[in-house]
Amino acid sequence: MAGEREQQLRAYVDYLRDMGVHDFYRRGEPMLAEFDSEPLIAARVAVAVSVDETPTTAANTSTLVEPDAVPSRPAFLEPPIAKLVSFDDLAPLPESRVTPEHKAEALVAIHEEIGDCTRCPLAYAGRRKIVFGDGDANARLMFVGEGPGADEDTSGIPFVGKAGQLLNNMIQAMGLKREQVYIANIVKCRPPNNRAPEPVEANTCDQFLLRQIDVVQPQVVMARGATAATYLLGVRQSLSGLRGRWHWCRGAKLAVTYHPAFLLRDPRMKGEAWKDLQMVMKELGLTAPGKG
Ligand code: URA
Repeated sequence: MAGEREQQLRAYVDYLRDMGVHDFYRRGEPMLAEFDSEPLIAARVAVAVSVDETPTTAANTSTLVEPDAVPSRPAFLEPPIAKLVSFDDLAPLPESRVTPEHKAEALVAIHEEIGDCTRCPLAYAGRRKIVFGDGDANARLMFVGEGPGADEDTSGIPFVGKAGQLLNNMIQAMGLKREQVYIANIVKCRPPNNRAPEPVEANTCDQFLLRQIDVVQPQVVMARGATAATYLLGVRQSLSGLRGRWHWCRGAKLAVTYHPAFLLRDPRMKGEAWKDLQMVMKELGLTAPGKG
């Protein structure tokens, strides 16, 4: 039962995360009932007793404040969140661009450079295969997801599980084949329990995705989900605030849409996702199969 509740809660948190809600705060103090709270209550009683024993004056009223269990972070320190930097601000565009006939070999060179990567904590978090990226080195359309899941970790290929099947269907609905697009993720190794990549992980892996984008030089990048959009654009904004308009990334136009896993959880949003795909289709001059 507890496991089921935990799963439901995890699914709900995933749902909110896909909508671009990243930070969760507890309202007010933790409720005593949530803890096995005897030590806490005992500590409070002890404070209350010592306060009662002290004559109350203006000078000592501050002793009525309950002590914090954990010292709070001094206000002059930055919050412990790594800074978000857009892919455009990470590095200037290369002065000379890889030509179409050399793109495939340029991607192989990046793949080789990654090697058996141990640059970030994900290398030690149970990853099996590094999921580099997949598709046409000369693609006009590139999809960027968040990070490999279990199926991708096993196969080494991005978007092959259920979310991948839905992505394939969407690509087909756009009048394309999967082999005609390029697919990659913000991080190349599976985050444990499919959690979102931490900034230190994304900020370590970004150098490779950035170079993949610079090699492929797609006309359009589609960020799948709020996490991909956050790291590519360097902004923390709700998905609804980012969808339906064009952004820029490495010289490509960038559109933001829902993550396929989110659409599997909430199929009612597929109509909205279709609007995002249509915006991209218009840009690329594509027509849905059977509509041309
Ligand atoms: N989800 C992603 O974001 N990427 C994958 O490759 C698979 C699932």
